[in-house]
Amino acid sequence: MLDNLTQRLAKVVKTMRGEARLTEANTAEMLREVRLALLEADVALPAVREFISRVKQKALGEAVISSLTPGQALVGVVQQELASLMGADLGPQASQLSFATQPPAVILMAGLQGVGKTTTVGKLAKYLQEQHKKKVLTVSADVYRPAAIAQLQAVTAQVGADFFPSHVNDKPVEIALAALDYAKKHYHDILIIDTAGRLGIDEAMMQEIAALHGAVKPIETLFVVDAMLGQDAINTAKAFNDALPLTGIVLTKLDGDARGGAALSVRYITGKPIKFAGVSEKLDGLEAFDPSRMANRILGMGDILALVEEARKGVDVKTAQDLAQKLKVGGKFDLNDFKMQLMQMKKMGGLSNLMDKLPAQMQQAANGANMDQADKQVRRMEGIINSMTLQERAKPELIKASRKRRIATGAGVQVQEVNRMLAQFEQMQAMMKKLKGGGMMKMMRSMKG
Ligand code: GDP
Repeated sequence: MLDNLTQRLAKVVKTMRGEARLTEANTAEMLREVRLALLEADVALPAVREFISRVKQKALGEAVISSLTPGQALVGVVQQELASLMGADLGPQASQLSFATQPPAVILMAGLQGVGKTTTVGKLAKYLQEQHKKKVLTVSADVYRPAAIAQLQAVTAQVGADFFPSHVNDKPVEIALAALDYAKKHYHDILIIDTAGRLGIDEAMMQEIAALHGAVKPIETLFVVDAMLGQDAINTAKAFNDALPLTGIVLTKLDGDARGGAALSVRYITGKPIKFAGVSEKLDGLEAFDPSRMANRILGMGDILALVEEARKGVDVKTAQDLAQKLKVGGKFDLNDFKMQLMQMKKMGGLSNLMDKLPAQMQQAANGANMDQADKQVRRMEGIINSMTLQERAKPELIKASRKRRIATGAGVQVQEVNRMLAQFEQMQAMMKKLKGGGMMKMMRSMKG
């Protein structure tokens, strides 16, 4: 999906990540690469401009500059802005379908011929039945192409929804109203209306669909657009959006080697959220659209960015810097520092949470290690440290047998566990010595390679 764009952007992202220092010059160079990649993928120029200007502004901002890993922080900014561009700023509700409080809810489908409208009606019916347990009726208002009516009947049967037959001699508005009446009488939750498409923008077609819209008052008016059509897709989206109060966009054929421009600019141009993406010819090939996940995919990073997000939540930069400073001036890594690191790990959602977000091959490398168990262990270690006096935490060498027994009782564990915790602490202490300051942040940096 969007392979060319992804390949190009992944390359820039890699360079960006590796930059320990962001200067005006190297930032500008990286953004130039991003800009070119987007333009080459046919993303609409105004969308590219706005995107780049927002990234640039944030790149010079405090959060990126003061980050211990500015390159990584810049990647985070690019991801966020890409997600925003595709609608993340509209909030998570925006890409959800609305359902009428008083069924049947009407979904009106609009779009040019050949973009995948009829296929999408079938996919949507299947999706609504399976994900939302809705009873769905479909109808075709395309009286110009008998084949279109037959095609809708076929896909509807394939997904096991109900079909309202229409005839080429009927008027589109009458067909739609009759279907709506039928849906009410037969307790359908949803009526999906497929409409006639033309090869290009056509005044008569626009009037017809506007009349349909006025007659059935749909809760959703979805514009179906073929992602392979690049800039053309955007132009038709704009024309339809001007003629009809669209509530959302369905991008089809994202599985093709589309250049991706439509996915990245249709929201910007129309202001309407992308609600679904078609990812195969088959009727199960419909995905609810998630701008943030799409941005990750486009940047070629799987869910690794979710990991960076978690790390950002967890790692308190000030604490990490203080520790680095303390070790640098010859201070010793003690149990308080150890506890701090355990807590940061917990803030990141624990080991099992982090593990989930690693790329597949890294998860395999960990080879089924039981992360839930490890998380429990972390909590127990924290409990043990909590049972120590401040003096013991600062000077672990004070902890002899009798103190160990007291601590174990306080934490509700066996003495062996206190020993094990102390051994782990000593290992960490030795590692810290080797790293000579920086601790966790340095480890994370070295992990990134
Ligand atoms: P309509 O004229 O807009 O109703 O378009 P159709 O539903 O007849 O689809 C046109 C062609 O696009 C058909 O060959 C579909 O199988 C194909 N198609 C629709 N959606 C997708 C998709 O998401 N991915 C792929 N690869 N093909 C699709």
